[in-house]
Amino acid sequence: MTQDHSTSAKVTPHRVILLGSTGSIGTNVLQCIEHLRDDHGITMEVVGLAAGSRAAELSQQARAFNVNTIALGSTDNRIDLDIPQTTTAFVGIDAAHQLIDTVAQPGDLVIAAMVGSAGLPAVIAAIDRKCDIALANKETLVAAGAIVMPAARHANITLLPIDSEHSAIFQCLLAGRCIDEVRRLVITASGGPFRTWPAQRVRSATVAEALNHPTWNMGPKITIDSASLMNKALEIIEAHWLFDMPADKIDVIVHPQSIVHSFVEFVDGSVMAQMGPPDMRGPIQYALTYPHRLKGCSQTLNWGQLSELNFEQLDHDRFPAVQLALECIKAGGTSGTIFNAANETAVAAFLDEQIRFGRITELVEATLDSIAPTPVQSLPDIMAADETAREFVTHQISRQQSSAATSAVTS
Ligand code: NDP
Ligand code: MG
Repeated sequence: MTQDHSTSAKVTPHRVILLGSTGSIGTNVLQCIEHLRDDHGITMEVVGLAAGSRAAELSQQARAFNVNTIALGSTDNRIDLDIPQTTTAFVGIDAAHQLIDTVAQPGDLVIAAMVGSAGLPAVIAAIDRKCDIALANKETLVAAGAIVMPAARHANITLLPIDSEHSAIFQCLLAGRCIDEVRRLVITASGGPFRTWPAQRVRSATVAEALNHPTWNMGPKITIDSASLMNKALEIIEAHWLFDMPADKIDVIVHPQSIVHSFVEFVDGSVMAQMGPPDMRGPIQYALTYPHRLKGCSQTLNWGQLSELNFEQLDHDRFPAVQLALECIKAGGTSGTIFNAANETAVAAFLDEQIRFGRITELVEATLDSIAPTPVQSLPDIMAADETAREFVTHQISRQQSSAATSAVTS
């Protein structure tokens, strides 16, 4: 306890702007902020909140954390925010970006926890304002690592990963002084709900089956990505950008218990792993208190009950997404943008029950085969590639739907 008090005094009580506050990560962030305040006496001032469409939850959060400026990405003008008159609210597609432009100050901590590449403009605006970034929103790096990483270096900000695997690698790399000392990064994967399913059954899995993740409780998009192993594919590209690693130095291994969050092999054969319970409040609190550690609000591991930790090779035939991601890194340019946009569009169509599960990966592969990557110089290059890929997938889905309708009529 004595040590905890002295460490508490060292932690920077950041001003925080939370993008994606109503989601799975967002609500865990707010729990961690409450825990730091109540159990450690560290007050992180939340100066901005952004959400997509859940107006009631956002309003309630703004009241609970005394936040004066909020943003709602929804374009539905029937949405009603229940907030005090003194609270400024931005509504619409650019709302999160406007929030950053209005409240962000150099040194603020912006937590990027929205889903999808919709988070990108706000993250870039926050970097330009010299805010530090705690990043959960992996799609931002997958789509635009070629812009985000140089901007972060140029602004000399701290970019901390929240994604558990990347937080693990980040922590392991603190021990390896030079990147030449690293032989490879190994990202662990739970294997998702279909780890043991035969290929044919995986292809026709239902939405409910794909949403039933064995170890993690997360938002719907990342849960589907975990079932298709697209999440691991996105994480490989995320690791490539965060740790400046080539494709041949990043590997994936299936670890069904989700206790070892990832590991780093060093050139001398030594391996550093980071472990913990499968609870995102671990990496979130670490990002909030970095470089210090305080008692967290998740349960600690019970070694007496941990009878085994298993590791298996990934079956690339049943789950080809990881291989596609490695090829994207090698191809460079807008490949990651195309990959991410195709996947986002296909996942939305699957959740809407327009396509079967197996089509997600097929559509991503078809998009990568059909649209050649181009060099990335600026944000418009990313936006253009993103739009082209989304249009391609949408077109493929509607073509498939009309040919299915035609055969139903003729049969
Ligand atoms: P959720 O679907 O639970 O939450 C997404 C959040 O983004 C919600 O608050 C949503 O608001 C908000 N949002 C959507 N569109 C906009 C927009 N245009 N402007 C502002 N906010 C928006 O997702 P998760 O929390 O699970 O995931 C968030 C990110 O973190 C993803 O990139 C995911 O890959 C990553 N991640 C998640 C992990 C997890 O355990 N959940 C683990 C590691 C990474 P609303 O609900 O109001 O529409
Ligand atoms: Mg992860």
